[in-house]
Amino acid sequence: MLFFYGTGSSRLLTAPLPATACTHCGITGQLSATVFSRYVSLFWTPIFPFGKMSVTVCGHCQQTIAKLKQMPESYRPPVRQLQEQARYPLTNFAALILFGLVLAGIFGLAWCSGPKEPAAYTAAEQALAGAELEVGARYQSKAGKDDGTYALVEITRLTPDTVYFKGTSILRGPLTPASATIALRDSVSAAGSRVPYPREMWAQLMEGAVGMRRIK
Ligand SMILES: [Zn+2]
Repeated sequence: MLFFYGTGSSRLLTAPLPATACTHCGITGQLSATVFSRYVSLFWTPIFPFGKMSVTVCGHCQQTIAKLKQMPESYRPPVRQLQEQARYPLTNFAALILFGLVLAGIFGLAWCSGPKEPAAYTAAEQALAGAELEVGARYQSKAGKDDGTYALVEITRLTPDTVYFKGTSILRGPLTPASATIALRDSVSAAGSRVPYPREMWAQLMEGAVGMRRIK
């Protein structure tokens, strides 16, 4: 998979430096500084900020200095002070916040549906779910059973540590062995036809939030 890493910057504040004289034209009161935050991005979405940078501009002679290190001594204390005042905006953490919301949603969902979930399995179904893994074993998702939708998963290959499986998209209508065979044959894309999964975690995948029960 291709990841688009990068960095970006966003403007935090612009403020005048009223007591500082421009070292280029000598005029006092025309300098202003803009503070930017720099952030790391993934797929053009900010993940976290890693620093600030400042630019000074003289309103009189237009001299622009884009690095604190290149600024004259007299510029640095007020610019540093502005940098300290400037707060990182929440948008610089957009990806982290999104990730947090998604996690909170998953846990919230698991928590809400938690109490009634175990009762939904009969002893016979649990015995099947825990049965020996085998190629060709099929599972039906239980999650959407109330509204008549479900998905199917079939194990396509087994190695000592990995389960390979293919899955369907959301299906509707009565489920028969024949309809399952057709759905598993038709709805599987080339890329998704063989998904590897750690064998020791297979039972959790099937019994956990996904809620699959073995049907064959
Ligand atoms: Zn100037």
